[in-house]
Amino acid sequence: AAKKKEQDKMATMTLEHTEVKKLTLEEETNPWEAQAARFDLAAEKLKLDPGICKVLRSPAREIIVHIPVGMDDGTIEVFTGYRVQHSIARGPAKGGIRFSPDVSLDEVRALASWMTWKCAVVNIPFGGAKGGVICDPKKMSQGELERMTRRYTAELIEFIGPEKDVPAPDMGTNEQTMAWIMDTYSMHMRQTVTSVVTGKPVNIGGSRGRREATGRGIAVVCDQALKALDMPVQGCRVIVQGFGNVGSNAAKILFDKGYTIIGLAEYDGALSNPEGLDIGALLEHRAKAGTINGFAGGVAVDKSELLTWPCEILIPAATENVITSQNADKLQCRILCEGANGPTTIVADDILEAKGVFVIPDILANAGGVTTSYFEWVQDRMGYFWTEAEVNQRLERIMIDSFDDVLSYAKSHQVNNRTAAYMLAIDRVAYTTKQRGIYA
Ligand code: GLU
Repeated sequence: AAKKKEQDKMATMTLEHTEVKKLTLEEETNPWEAQAARFDLAAEKLKLDPGICKVLRSPAREIIVHIPVGMDDGTIEVFTGYRVQHSIARGPAKGGIRFSPDVSLDEVRALASWMTWKCAVVNIPFGGAKGGVICDPKKMSQGELERMTRRYTAELIEFIGPEKDVPAPDMGTNEQTMAWIMDTYSMHMRQTVTSVVTGKPVNIGGSRGRREATGRGIAVVCDQALKALDMPVQGCRVIVQGFGNVGSNAAKILFDKGYTIIGLAEYDGALSNPEGLDIGALLEHRAKAGTINGFAGGVAVDKSELLTWPCEILIPAATENVITSQNADKLQCRILCEGANGPTTIVADDILEAKGVFVIPDILANAGGVTTSYFEWVQDRMGYFWTEAEVNQRLERIMIDSFDDVLSYAKSHQVNNRTAAYMLAIDRVAYTTKQRGIYA
């Protein structure tokens, strides 16, 4: 009977997955559905125990806060914020905080579970969490951002901590935001607690190399992918979407390694140069002009078209759902390296697989950030700080090993890289969950 029940469950899951293919664009681009569909597929292939499957599929805790903030013009505004802790099975919950007008509970939920899988793929001792506040940081003053961040932190005070849940930067937040969180938490604790957040400025407990870490991890897995596919760096054309912390550092490190960055798309414009954009010069231009537009070393091109240009490596490093059923068949890259979280929808996955695109999935490709966050948390707790070379060397080791793990898992289980990364991660979290047992 138990076997029959399991078979029925598997049949339903297969059905659910098949139905994913008939989704409307709105359903296709719901990040929680995207995460759940990948989870179901991997769980099915792992023949995961149905009970454990239920545990891992749902977030452990979801906190919603409404944050009053005194604005510069004397009015009071109320912002809605979230913190979702998906799992603490393998260690404290870990994950960034996003400030964006597009934040929703479903998005934060998806991002939180992606953190669980990401930390498990690179085998660091954290669970997964994510936070978000619905706001437009580009339209807020530093004072307004500081008050909002501090009140958000105060609302979450009993839920975060070095052994509970450790936030970090994500879209719309940065080192300064982390400094305010650290200070607010420390004021409540009546002592300085640096290890409550990562991605802090280096002088107050930040790790050397953390700022560049996600980009550096991307460059490492690109190197590994070229080796695996027997392709040279020389003449390797790269297109990057997004020039924020992830995209700009990935582009700069790849440029320094000799890759040819032929195209770069930002939210307000895009540039191309078939000979390669000089990323160092472009960063200097952006620092002065505040935008990539008007850079003399490239020509302006259509930002949405750039994704479908011929290239060896395409790196979406902006936001979710940029590769969908609407454009996946037009992609002309050999390698898709996902710098952003969830840039590809599940429908696009199937199209890319049929086209033979080599995908380096987000939970592996962009894991360099949280890996160096782990180093930062370790250094804060030791009170002993490493050189940048030590940090980068350790990061490189973990990224190479994780890339190899995912590739050999894909080979031995006859699945694509994304499914392999999910299976590897889910298997690790499931193992710990079973070992710890269910507390009742
Ligand atoms: N926000 C980053 C991510 O999505 C970093 C998270 C962290 O360092 O905790 O992976």
